[in-house]
Amino acid sequence: IVQLYVPLNWFGTYYRAIQKNFVDMENMFDLLREEQEVIDAPGAGPISVRRGAVEFNNVTFGYLPERLVLKNVTFSVPAGKTVALVGPSGSGKSTVIRLLFRFYDVETGSIIIDGQNIKTVTQESLRRSIGVVPQDTVLFNNTIKYNIKYGRLTATDAEVIEAARGGDIHDKILQFPEGYETQVGERGLRLSGGEKQRVAIARTLLKAPAIILLDEATSALDTQTERNIQDSLERMCTNRTTIIVAHRLSTIIHADEILVLQEGEIVERGRHEHLIGQEGVYANMWRQQLESRENSSADNSLEKSA
Ligand code: ATP
Repeated sequence: IVQLYVPLNWFGTYYRAIQKNFVDMENMFDLLREEQEVIDAPGAGPISVRRGAVEFNNVTFGYLPERLVLKNVTFSVPAGKTVALVGPSGSGKSTVIRLLFRFYDVETGSIIIDGQNIKTVTQESLRRSIGVVPQDTVLFNNTIKYNIKYGRLTATDAEVIEAARGGDIHDKILQFPEGYETQVGERGLRLSGGEKQRVAIARTLLKAPAIILLDEATSALDTQTERNIQDSLERMCTNRTTIIVAHRLSTIIHADEILVLQEGEIVERGRHEHLIGQEGVYANMWRQQLESRENSSADNSLEKSA
């Protein structure tokens, strides 16, 4: 059902994206199933994002009045640092990201970027300042060049190539039948999940935002691809304020702070080693992932020897 609905919805979104010039919105697939509900305050001006420090102060929010999805969430991400959100499905991780992108306004509390409450600035300027790498990147039925350039339509060819290099996809593109002019998407060359993620990284590099929201893909890539993508992601996020929704804990070992969400509340917080030492929710999640990884590599070796 989801697969039937999403493209229709997405089309509407894409249309609005063009209307409002939200360069990243077409990417926001997952975040965007909902209609927009937020209206700019009268006389709202553009946000001025310099280094991109992000603060959530006592944020409480529910999609429906009778059910709170975030309860008193407080954290800050100093400019250039990385905070990771982890927790069970439905604990509110994506909601944090949606609120920061201001698809909804918070009920109580505030979200502050470089000292400015995001409620008081235009949504368009806010979204221009934030790069998003979603789980699943949507490609336009257009050339691979256009698909990268979408991050900043005024970019030169040389800048597109530089971004493609940064996303580690330049060499791959040169192997395509018509190089950068190759048509991709539904009606052209179909890219793999890993390649689409690289396009998203290249787009974001072109956009060069101070703040990056990263929704880690749940679908597994093979280990080598995974490692290469991880390297590109790390390069992209260096010196940028990054909020990452993480599914594989191995990717956030070096995060400056990890927030463990459960039913909309932060139940544990700290760096990886600290949380492991706490023997709590995070340590359990970590143990489970190690076990399932061992099991799956055991399965693989069985398959290979069979
Ligand atoms: P996952 O890891 O599965 O993506 P998550 O931690 O990101 O989960 P959220 O997507 O933030 O969780 O959802 C938190 C809660 O809010 C869930 O119970 C979800 O059902 C509910 N929810 C999300 N979007 C809406 C919506 N548009 N309307 C009503 N409830 C919603």
